[in-house]
Amino acid sequence: MKYSTSTALIGLVLAFSGLLSVDSQASKAAFDDKFRQLGEVLPTPNIYRTASGTPGHKYWQQQVDYDISIAIDDKTQRLTGEQIMDYQNNSPDTLRYLWLQLDQNRMKRDSAYKMTSRAPSEKKVTFDSFRRLVESPIFDGGYGITKVSASNGKALHYVINGTMMRVDLPKPLKSGASVEININWHYQLHEQKVLGGRSGYEYFKEDDNYLYEVASWFPRAAAYYDAKGWQNKQFLGNGEFTLEFGDYDVKITVPADHIVAATGVLQNESKVLTSTQRKRLKQAKKAKKPVLIITPAEALANEKSRSSKTKTWHFRAKNVRDFAFASSRKFIWDAQGYQQGNSNTMAMSFYPNEGNPLWEKYSTEAIIHTMEQYSKYTFDYPYPVSISVNGPVGGMEYPMITFNGPRPTLDDETGEKTYSRRTKYGLVGVIIHEVGHNYFPMIVNSDERQWTWMDEGLNTFLQFLAEQAWEEGYPSRRGHATNITSYMKSDNQVPIMTNSESILQFGNNAYGKPATALNILRETIMGRELFDFAFKEYALRWKFKRPTPADFFRTMEDASAVDLDWFWRGWFYTTDHVDLAIDNVYLYRPNSQNPDVEEAWERALDNEQPEFISDLRNKNQWVRTQDKPELLDFYNDHDKFTATNADRNKYNEEHEKLESWQKDLLTNNSKFYVIDFSNHGGLVMPILLDITYADNTTEHIYIPAEIWRKNSKKVSKLLIRDKEITEIALDAKWQTADVNINNNYWPARPIQSRFDLYKEKKKDMMRDYNEALKDISAEKINNEAEHQEEGK
Ligand SMILES: [Zn+2]
Repeated sequence: MKYSTSTALIGLVLAFSGLLSVDSQASKAAFDDKFRQLGEVLPTPNIYRTASGTPGHKYWQQQVDYDISIAIDDKTQRLTGEQIMDYQNNSPDTLRYLWLQLDQNRMKRDSAYKMTSRAPSEKKVTFDSFRRLVESPIFDGGYGITKVSASNGKALHYVINGTMMRVDLPKPLKSGASVEININWHYQLHEQKVLGGRSGYEYFKEDDNYLYEVASWFPRAAAYYDAKGWQNKQFLGNGEFTLEFGDYDVKITVPADHIVAATGVLQNESKVLTSTQRKRLKQAKKAKKPVLIITPAEALANEKSRSSKTKTWHFRAKNVRDFAFASSRKFIWDAQGYQQGNSNTMAMSFYPNEGNPLWEKYSTEAIIHTMEQYSKYTFDYPYPVSISVNGPVGGMEYPMITFNGPRPTLDDETGEKTYSRRTKYGLVGVIIHEVGHNYFPMIVNSDERQWTWMDEGLNTFLQFLAEQAWEEGYPSRRGHATNITSYMKSDNQVPIMTNSESILQFGNNAYGKPATALNILRETIMGRELFDFAFKEYALRWKFKRPTPADFFRTMEDASAVDLDWFWRGWFYTTDHVDLAIDNVYLYRPNSQNPDVEEAWERALDNEQPEFISDLRNKNQWVRTQDKPELLDFYNDHDKFTATNADRNKYNEEHEKLESWQKDLLTNNSKFYVIDFSNHGGLVMPILLDITYADNTTEHIYIPAEIWRKNSKKVSKLLIRDKEITEIALDAKWQTADVNINNNYWPARPIQSRFDLYKEKKKDMMRDYNEALKDISAEKINNEAEHQEEGK
């Protein structure tokens, strides 16, 4: 470009605007505003929920108290219960009926859950899931309801619709009034290892014993709240339990030789525990490590007893939203007191001998670790007990009690107990996770049937923080940004803001992605200080209350002064992924306007260009001017980069008119780097740059995501430096979940991989046919004999 006659400053602007014009296209082309404020998407704030994300001045929630007696028949695995439900209507509305959840009706033969379950998506099926496919349609569970009556004993009209039951009230329940409803019921427990689910029993063939993990076992009031009305969506298996807080009084009748672990505080220790057990429990309160209330040897002895009598265990729990329990004669029981703030908690583990040596070593320690770590980011654990039970359920949470599955396995060959790395970390991880659920959703009581992520995502995020505080380099499955990238670029997914039942890739969508998103917010976008304060504020605002997604989104911004609408929009409302790339790097300098300087610069640039191939090959060829020098003239002595006096005069005249600061800009010697970035994934994110200079020094540059606000697809950044840049790396620490790091380097780096070579195996039927038939039973006997000798 020839230097212009306009002022130098305008010339400079023009030179750049030619390159950076992509920004101006944004207003005309199909414009995708990634920073559009969320206000029009979120529900309108009102007196119940404010625009800043707090409960409003008229916030209300229902209270439902229960008084229940239940008995387990150990011969038939049948549960029979009688309950009194006291429903307190704190809403401003009059209610003519109540909806109750009958979640066990999912196990009925014709349930919507069973009828809508689909054929396996692959021909390759595990034995376990194939057995479930075979057995599930056969098992006919669900409630038998034998009585629904008012407190005066008068029968109440009710209608069962799948997993929901509507009880019509004898008279409308006014705001501020309460009503008592009595319900008698029974149902058949199922074998959890066969039919799955969040509760059930495990049968131990070797010692002919049952271990019960009982949950969702009584008709529970459905939630009624300002933003939804009745949460009476059918239970299809994924959307869990949306419940009201209340006080519980529960009497559990089991075989006399069973040990019961439950939500709440045991009321009749003297009736159900031995004096030794009570003495040990007392010791445990102040102990520095878990105290055995029932030792492994005692549990083994209990396994062999068969009492024909029963005992009734009486528990009370205050301000909980559910109640679960476990019962077996196989339980080892250990306990350790834990003090936090003003609350004293008894951390306890119940597990069969099959769980050792893992359980005695890790369970109670992991419970205490969870309370200690989670409280840093939320609030002190408020309940008197925190329990971890080993049984058939892989991992499930209830107030004060959790069911956790991992246990050692027996080696096929040696018969010895062993456990994998995965089992060890799986156990510690699942206990942290399930105990962590006490905070979300057992206390910060979000609507699980609607939004799985609100409890699973937040809880998995804190699980990650707690795991990282367990040991250095703890192998967390979820949390690090890079662990989510293959999910983020996968097809067949839906936004996080999708109803629990319609989620595809459940674990990644509702656990992994929100947990990672929060970790990225904390480490990369907000920073730990702003994030931790805002997150804690959310937990404190909604402790023992029911938040919605908007309350979370709003609180995080309200407490931090960080506009995160773009982040919620991208990460929670879309399936976009992160893939930022470095496209081009340009080196600029100001055009000095001085013809001598500029023409020389252009000549030098021209000399750096490669010679034309023809010129190269014609180097020594005969040319006419060789023989006839008279054909040469002025233009043969002056190339096209020659400055003329006319140019110089024009420059001198213009230069005279400039202010001295304008003259300085023209001779600015810095290197002006323009870096073009593009966004291939859709999600806008901060641009994190690590720059290496020719002198081997480095620099980290953080460019907030707002750089994308006027064009979310392409953006250019100007860096003015004195030193030469030799390398630029984008997100070098893998903080943003960028799914493709191969376009993150300038200059590009080779992608490292390897070829895996293998030997081809050829089938030979004749050889296989003639192979000698082995006597497997004889081999087994030999093996056992060998191992017995080794054991001595
Ligand atoms: Zn969970």
